[in-house]
Amino acid sequence: MKMLNFFLKIRGQNNLLQKYEFLQIQRTFTEKGITKKLIEKEKDSGTMTLKKLKDNLVSMKDSLAVKDDNILVKWMGKPPIIPLQCDVIIIGGGVIGSSIAYWLKKRVYSQDFRVLVIERDPMYTTASTVLSVGGLRQQFSLKENIEMSLFGAEFIRNINDYLGIYGQPAIDPIFHPYGYLMLASEKGAERLTENSKLQNFLGAKNILLSPAKLKNIFPWLNTEDIELGCLGLEKEGWFDPWTLLCAFKKKAMVLGAQYISGEACGFTYKPNDEDLIDRLDQLVIKTKEGEINTIQFSIAIVAAGAFSGEVAKMAKIGIENDMRQVCLPVEPRKRYVYCFHSPDGPGLNCPLTIDYSGTYFRREGLAGTFICGRSPDESEEPPVQDLNVDYDYFDEKVWPLLANRVPVFEKLKLKSSWAGYYEFNTFDQNGIIGPHPYYKNLIFATGFSGHGIQQAPAVGRAIAEIIVDGQYMTIDLSNLHFERIINRTHMSEINIV
Ligand SMILES: Cc1cc2nc3c(=O)[nH]c(=O)nc-3n(C[C@H](O)[C@H](O)[C@H](O)COP(=O)(O)OP(=O)(O)OC[C@H]3O[C@@H](n4cnc5c(N)ncnc54)[C@H](O)[C@@H]3O)c2cc1C
Repeated sequence: MKMLNFFLKIRGQNNLLQKYEFLQIQRTFTEKGITKKLIEKEKDSGTMTLKKLKDNLVSMKDSLAVKDDNILVKWMGKPPIIPLQCDVIIIGGGVIGSSIAYWLKKRVYSQDFRVLVIERDPMYTTASTVLSVGGLRQQFSLKENIEMSLFGAEFIRNINDYLGIYGQPAIDPIFHPYGYLMLASEKGAERLTENSKLQNFLGAKNILLSPAKLKNIFPWLNTEDIELGCLGLEKEGWFDPWTLLCAFKKKAMVLGAQYISGEACGFTYKPNDEDLIDRLDQLVIKTKEGEINTIQFSIAIVAAGAFSGEVAKMAKIGIENDMRQVCLPVEPRKRYVYCFHSPDGPGLNCPLTIDYSGTYFRREGLAGTFICGRSPDESEEPPVQDLNVDYDYFDEKVWPLLANRVPVFEKLKLKSSWAGYYEFNTFDQNGIIGPHPYYKNLIFATGFSGHGIQQAPAVGRAIAEIIVDGQYMTIDLSNLHFERIINRTHMSEINIV
């Protein structure tokens, strides 16, 4: 509660906190009281009758049912009234922003605790979340990434326990449980072995395979230039990103978070007498009708994906010549996904394969269709003004590598494609999480550079811990704080795809 306490004090809302704490204490006493009475009653009347049990179940079900249909109507486009103030404002309603909104409202379930999500594109036409390929793996080199993805796997497996809504159909994230297959040349074999040791130590399950074993399991694979492979045995695969986003968003709204359609376009400031450092006070937003509104907040969270660097600039980060001089190094980088048909290609026995060149492919359904991609070299980065696809890039830089690894892909037929933005952290291609050292009421959750969707559950939970508990209670992500950018300490992830 430390950080929440601190911010609520700033806003002169001690009463809310007291109310929340009081409610918790009161609930404990009340619960104790109820339990005691029930035990006494049970003692009196022997066991509970079946009828009583049924009645209890009916009233419990009734209290859990979603009665406010407006919750869904609001999402379908009815313009909401823009509030003047809130406790936490989240800029960006993609998977990261929505996960944060969900975890915050789950932790502090009180009408008085107002969480607003500002989203400029409610149809998510260019959001990274919906253009991602939804892969989930623990085959990373950094402890933090492995741990976050382990929680991601647990979360997806039990998604209905977290995000299910009583009275609504069960959520099916369309999870395909298939291990990743990471391939290493002679140069990368030692590193692959070290990574695998760490991953297994932390709870992942994968095995190292020699070229002979690889060939035996995957006869369609060319292993000539391969020294070693690492195959995930559980907790890896791919799922539907859109389903995950919708589930987070719906549940956050049911718990009381409010989504506002509008673009964050600036901040206002409030001088702080205690430390003479300006505090962020209001967010300026522009609706699609062109209306300008300001919303006062206690805490702002930057979860604007690829455009988070721009939002940080609105708070003078990377502009002023003081503690704010270091910019948030997150920018859009265009990544292509190509979809091809290869009827003679590998069948069900086809993991998400990542070649040591960085080229990846996986099955898409069962009818000989695959998707694939490859991040360009730094010197080849395409322009980012639009999301047009470069087909020459496929012909020259992707297809030859695919055909080398799986000879039958020589005859593939390109069917379709799309492009999306990585929210690329130019410093070390990893998430940037936690408070900004100058503005104590500005928190980052961005920069995941192509592995953010699987980390969204852990990131949302971590941000809620920072705000509600004042410290990490589950996975310690302090190594991913913004300070590392200032101190020039890289948290480099080897397995970036
Ligand atoms: C091709 C591709 C493949 C990928 N594959 C994987 C994968 O296999 N596994 C994996 O884990 N990750 C993958 N990713 C990465 C993953 O999609 C992202 O890390 C994740 O979706 C980031 O979520 P986000 O909420 O931060 O960003 P977004 O989904 O982009 O959401 C940010 C939102 O902020 C809004 N916004 C921006 N600026 C403003 C503003 N000024 N005001 C209001 N709103 C604003 C945007 O409209 C957007 O909706 C992939 C990404 C791409 C592009």
